[in-house]
Amino acid sequence: MTDLPGDAAVVLEAGDIETLFGAMARTIIDHAEELTALDQAIGDGDHGLNMKCGFEAVTANLPAIAVKPLPEALKAAGMELVMKVGGASGPLYGTLLMTLGKTLPAAPGRSDVAAALAAAVDAVKARGKSETGQKTMLDVLAPVQAAVARGEDLAAIRAVAAEAAAATVPMRAIRGRASFLGERSVGHMDPGARSSQLLVEALCDAIGDIA
Ligand code: ADP
Ligand code: MG
Repeated sequence: MTDLPGDAAVVLEAGDIETLFGAMARTIIDHAEELTALDQAIGDGDHGLNMKCGFEAVTANLPAIAVKPLPEALKAAGMELVMKVGGASGPLYGTLLMTLGKTLPAAPGRSDVAAALAAAVDAVKARGKSETGQKTMLDVLAPVQAAVARGEDLAAIRAVAAEAAAATVPMRAIRGRASFLGERSVGHMDPGARSSQLLVEALCDAIGDIA
């Protein structure tokens, strides 16, 4: 599959959910050191470890999570992140996944994915009291949502995520720990923007592999 499904509903089976969640966990665990290095530059250096711990917990519970319907699986994975991830990113990514779980039907089509992502981005904004343009994960998540809503294919969505993460480099941080640095936050990629890019890329690749 080179594209998200159209509006025909896609029924995900337990093996597909394992593929999708497993791909997200693997990329985060494989890139933990890079995420830590990014957070050392403009934060407190824990983003890699925070995300690794959260996704190791998801991996440990994957057999139980993957047999649930997609909405329940997303809520369960989101709860793991809220409980296991220290730092700001745990509640924010947890909110993202739990809102996707509350909003997506068990057999979503593209417009369902676009609507659920819009609700999830709004929920992260509310939870973080943040907006796009403040050098956070939202600067990747919001453009990716827009690309899905526009009907872009998986390769284009991947490219949007990469460009959006790179575009956080010249931004000045207004939210999160990096905002304490003021102007000195300029010139570094936001760690949460990079982890969001990694998650989107892993999902695009995994969706390409299933169906
Ligand atoms: P902490 O900042 O508590 O050490 P992490 O290092 O795990 O937590 O996560 C930092 C990332 O979380 C940032 O790079 C940014 O993308 C994201 N983030 C932090 N605060 C907010 C916020 N208020 N809204 C949106 N994203 C945020
Ligand atoms: Mg940190």
